[in-house]
Amino acid sequence: MTYELPKLPYAYDSLEPYIDAKTMEIHHSKHHAAYTEKFNAAIKDAKIEETPIEYIFKRVSKYPAAVRNNGGGYYNHNFYWLSMGPKAGGEPSGKLLEAIKKDFGSFDKFKEEFSAAGLNRFGSGWTWLISSGGKLKVASTPNQDNPLMDIAEAKGTPLLCMDVWEHAYYLKYQNKRADYIANFWNVINWKEVENRLAKD
Ligand code: MN
Repeated sequence: MTYELPKLPYAYDSLEPYIDAKTMEIHHSKHHAAYTEKFNAAIKDAKIEETPIEYIFKRVSKYPAAVRNNGGGYYNHNFYWLSMGPKAGGEPSGKLLEAIKKDFGSFDKFKEEFSAAGLNRFGSGWTWLISSGGKLKVASTPNQDNPLMDIAEAKGTPLLCMDVWEHAYYLKYQNKRADYIANFWNVINWKEVENRLAKD
């Protein structure tokens, strides 16, 4: 096995009441585990087990769909778990807050744009805050695509992501994706997002 399902840095129930323990458990131990297993099989089939994942994403259009779908599923969920945390939420600070104000006008304007992108994603996909050419942007990807992939509409360095697949919220919120999105703001680990920007 080249890639392994990462352990979560917090318990399944620690994002309650915003994201329930059952959803977290199934999402991590079933969905993410399946993407990880299938990604390992896909890179073995394509003989790219030694290729760094970022490099695979940069030329993902040249590989079989199983590499794109399961590689995205493996990577995006890792990124999503670390984008969240217990006793989180609120507002970012420092350079990240400054950059958000510069590029979106205000934190509330950013929140509106990010939430709308999540709500308007038709079917399954992801919402992102990315850094691209020194600017912060909101991006939206279908299925398990991400902004590191050559096929992405908006490419850049991912800073924050939100899973808007039904499996991310259906047990607790059913069809009410807007309610899941409204509550997602309570679990964002801004320290992690700030660190990602600092490294960009
Ligand atoms: Mn998911």
